[in-house]
Amino acid sequence: MRRVMPFLAVLIVSVLAAAGCGENVAVRAANAKPITPPSAPPSPSSTATSPSSPAVTHAPLREAAPAPIPAAGRGPAGSLTTTGSDAVALTFDDGPDPKNTNDLLDLLRDQGVKATFCVVGSRAKAHPAVIRRIVAEGHTLCNHSWQHLYNLSERDDKYLMGDLRSTNDAIHAAAPDAKIEYFRAPGGYFTRRLVDFAARLNMKPIYWSVDDQCWQSNKYGVGPAMTNHITTMVQRETRPGGIILSHDNGKPYTIATYRSLLPWLKSKFRLEALPTSAPLPDLPSRAKDLRDR
Ligand SMILES: [Zn+2]
Repeated sequence: MRRVMPFLAVLIVSVLAAAGCGENVAVRAANAKPITPPSAPPSPSSTATSPSSPAVTHAPLREAAPAPIPAAGRGPAGSLTTTGSDAVALTFDDGPDPKNTNDLLDLLRDQGVKATFCVVGSRAKAHPAVIRRIVAEGHTLCNHSWQHLYNLSERDDKYLMGDLRSTNDAIHAAAPDAKIEYFRAPGGYFTRRLVDFAARLNMKPIYWSVDDQCWQSNKYGVGPAMTNHITTMVQRETRPGGIILSHDNGKPYTIATYRSLLPWLKSKFRLEALPTSAPLPDLPSRAKDLRDR
């Protein structure tokens, strides 16, 4: 039994990774549906250099130890729930997704809105063109871990640092100059230890103030029903300085919702990507060229 339990734990965590962020684990288990399988969990003893083995990746780092811990926020373990200004930030998690992320980028471009993308390292490695497009079009990035393990904080130091580093490495392999100044724990399950590790890579922990619950398709449905739900949630809960949690990976109805919701948000709030220490260049879009094939 002892040998079976770790396997079951990994299996459960992998299945739960389907649903996205924001829900509790029990709800995730009920809502779980097939997704692209995550990469095999990295082995601390492996000698491979692939980013699929985070524990042993040796890429240049922006590590500075000890780094100051960001000002405490009101989220779990002091994670940030506000932008620090009156601006509202849209954050989209769990991509990049070559279809839905590109559709969302088209929409954001057409609406003149910048957002922040919390990307999963294994997916960043699989879809580098989408990462390049995110950066080229002036959006900002957030590390959302390598394979979205909800129990990330329970992993040992070597695994944990490897996971975070490899995610940044995958992003930088696609966009070498991209700034990655934010980290969001899978499911928002921040602990003080995760916050500390993120800080060692100069990443601030971001939570959210509004969860549009677009991952709750079992409860709210899809299509127009989900659009109504997301719209109601966002319009009711958003305040100046808020951070809105949403998802682009595998969520076409979310993108469809923002098509009508963005004009409302723009009429009520100043929208901006979570800022980096130096603004990213707002380069001309080469969307068609940059799409994954
Ligand atoms: Zn997530």
